[in-house]
Amino acid sequence: MMTTKAVTVAAKLIQKTSLTTDVTELVYQPEPQFSWVAGQFISILIPGAGPGGRDLRRAYSIASSPDLGPTFQLCVKIVPGGPGSNYLADMAVGQAFSGMAPFGDFVFKTAQDRDVVFFATGTGLAPFRAMIASQSFPACERSRIYFGVRTRADVFYREELSQALGDRFQIALSREPSVLQAGETAGRITEKFKADLAQGKINLPGTDFYLCGSGAMIDELKTFLMENGVQKSAIHQEVYYKG
Ligand SMILES: Cc1cc2nc3c(=O)[nH]c(=O)nc-3n(C[C@H](O)[C@H](O)[C@H](O)COP(=O)(O)OP(=O)(O)OC[C@H]3O[C@@H](n4cnc5c(N)ncnc54)[C@H](O)[C@@H]3O)c2cc1C
Repeated sequence: MMTTKAVTVAAKLIQKTSLTTDVTELVYQPEPQFSWVAGQFISILIPGAGPGGRDLRRAYSIASSPDLGPTFQLCVKIVPGGPGSNYLADMAVGQAFSGMAPFGDFVFKTAQDRDVVFFATGTGLAPFRAMIASQSFPACERSRIYFGVRTRADVFYREELSQALGDRFQIALSREPSVLQAGETAGRITEKFKADLAQGKINLPGTDFYLCGSGAMIDELKTFLMENGVQKSAIHQEVYYKG
């Protein structure tokens, strides 16, 4: 997969939308324009937020398809007290951040004869949304997403991804609601995945796995997959944070 060298960009915020109470979608106009491959991220400078007033850097997956460029979208979970996420969420339309992009190798690389399973917790959905929204995405019919959040109120991009994948877009709600809706299951994505596997819905040796979000989810699933004979080369991961 060809990726381009990272360039320094100033990205002006042109639109801001709350997707849930703590996840915000941000649309930017970059200067200069840059190209990226769906799944890559941008590294953003957080001025003066580090120890002794030093600058920090934070990474954010580009949540939109390159087809929609030159503007790009981020999907940011606002972490209480977190300097990076609050810097972005507090920005007003018209303001700009400085960053470098694109970075990363977490891009779609599955051969045409293989199935695909995406696992995301929270904003870990962002790179998968970018991949699937790309007109050239070759694998809608062969893909499943397991999307883990706490409650139904934490779900975003539901309509868009259900439209693309139908009932292969599965939402796992870890704080069980009393009544489940279509496409939802109670519990964690690992449990839903294991149940689907037991029902013969997954062809383990014929599938590539992409995991993004919490390190704990990624470690658990990766261990499970490898214990069940999945080759390391079929597992791709982007860890957002350790817990
Ligand atoms: C390659 C890469 C891509 C990333 N893409 C995204 C993205 O598209 N959207 C996004 O929201 N975050 C993303 N992150 C996480 C992001 O870089 C920051 O770590 C996050 O925004 C918290 O930074 P902060 O400065 O606000 O808080 P910090 O003080 O740095 O973090 C506080 C704590 O928040 C928790 N945390 C961090 N990220 C998350 C999260 N996404 N959800 C829940 N808890 C979290 C961790 O426990 C962390 O220790 C990505 C991380 C990496 C490495």
